[in-house]
Parts: sequence; C-alpha cells; structure tokens
Amino acid sequence: MVKFSRYYEGKTKALVLSYDDGQETDRRMVETLNYYGIKATFHLNAGNLGRQGYLGPEDAALYRGHEIAAHTYSHPHMLQIPEEARLMELWRDRERLEEIWGNIVDGFSYPYGEYDGRLKSLMEAVGFSYARTTDSRYDFRLPEDFYAWHPTCHHRENCIGLAEKYLEYDYREGLSVFCMWGHSHNFQREGNWEVLEQFCRLMGKREEIWYCTMGEFVRYVRGLGALQTSLRGDLVYNPTDQRLWFEREGRLVRIEPGERKTMEERL
Ligand SMILES: [Zn+2]
Repeated sequence: MVKFSRYYEGKTKALVLSYDDGQETDRRMVETLNYYGIKATFHLNAGNLGRQGYLGPEDAALYRGHEIAAHTYSHPHMLQIPEEARLMELWRDRERLEEIWGNIVDGFSYPYGEYDGRLKSLMEAVGFSYARTTDSRYDFRLPEDFYAWHPTCHHRENCIGLAEKYLEYDYREGLSVFCMWGHSHNFQREGNWEVLEQFCRLMGKREEIWYCTMGEFVRYVRGLGALQTSLRGDLVYNPTDQRLWFEREGRLVRIEPGERKTMEERL
C-alpha cells in the first residue's frame, strides 16, 4: 500500500514558524533561527515598513532563506472595513512586498486573527495559497483548510511542553506539523528570549524534522495530494513539478517530477 507519510527528503515531521508584524526584533529572531537551521515565515505590513520600531525595505535581505508573507498593508481590523478596502489592503501589501523581496508573495496571516467567510473567500482571489489564524489548536494535525490554518500554539502557550510532545509523536499516526506563531517583539517586551533559544535547541538540527516555510509546506502537501496511484498501488504518477516522497510497504520511495513509477509487488 502507498502511504503519504513522508515530507521532503523522506523526513517524517515538519516545523513551521509564523511570525507577524515585521518589527526590529525580527533581527534577533532571524539570527537565532539561522544558527539552529530553522526556517520561518514573516508576515509583514508594507505600510509599516520603515516606521519607528519596524524594519524597512532595505532589510528585506535579512529574511533570506525564510519567507516573506503578507499581513495587510496597514494592519486594520479587517472585519470593520468595507470589502473594497479589504481588497485594497491585501492587494497593496502583496504588491509592495513582492517589489521589495523580488519574489512571489503568496502567504498571509489574519491581523488580530480576525476573519469571516467573506474575507477568507478573498484569499484565493488575491493569489494567496494559505492564511493563518491565531486560533491555537495545541495539536499537530494538518490544516483541514489552508485558508484557515490554525496553528499549534503561540510561543507563550507552553511551546516547550508541546515541542517535547511532538518529538515523541509517532509519525505512523499520520502526517503532522508543528506550527508556532507569535511576534518577535513579544520576546523583547516580556524579556524572555530564552524561550526562543530553548525551543530552538530542542527542535533544531534534528534528522527527522523538515524545516520549511509555510509556503513550502503548502506546496509539498498539495503536491502529495496531486499524486495519482493505481488502485493496486503498484503504479504512481507524479504530475507536479516537485520531487516527492512517500512510503510503500514500509519502504521510502522518491518520485521525480513527471515520473511514472512501476513498483514491484512484494511477495
Ligand atoms: Zn499583526
């Protein structure tokens, strides 16, 4: 039987970090993450770039190796403004961030975690492939809906205890992800950068974990979902442009973009 239980390079677990607002404290956060080889997604408000306490357009290089994602242009309460203004907030943020980053920006997080069905329905129209909420679920399940991606926890919410639990999680139970969110300025204001250090020491540099951005995660999981298999599971076709991994009869299999794989039946 074919089992979709593996991530990039056959890894069995995934860690994503989702940090909002783009304040100057992102510098220290990125430095720490880089040391431990952990990737993150940073959700920025283009309208705040360069304001006091925030990073500016010239700091885009800081995020190299990580992901820059959108968070609206001016961080309004989106449910309190007209739909046209909502669209403008999404559009302007994406446009400006793409300009300074020189890359496609297709991720989003809801300011104040506020969203409704109408706002969610705009995500796809503006070209976002996922949108994160602030509704922590304290588990490691994959999002059922990438446009309402509920994280595992805020770093304030016993992230060390949850990380220990994740390390013990048996990947054969099903694909899982640890998604932590917050703001780097929380560490500064609350004087607890050691929480980030401790988290990274525990979760970083592990063989079984795929350290990816949210965008990379979504693309990979959608890629797995696009794999076509014969009913008997002896034929697998990869119609995507990505290299993907899965298990068959307990063995790790890699399939190249566009490859059609015939697998021998095990007797
Ligand atoms: Zn925010």
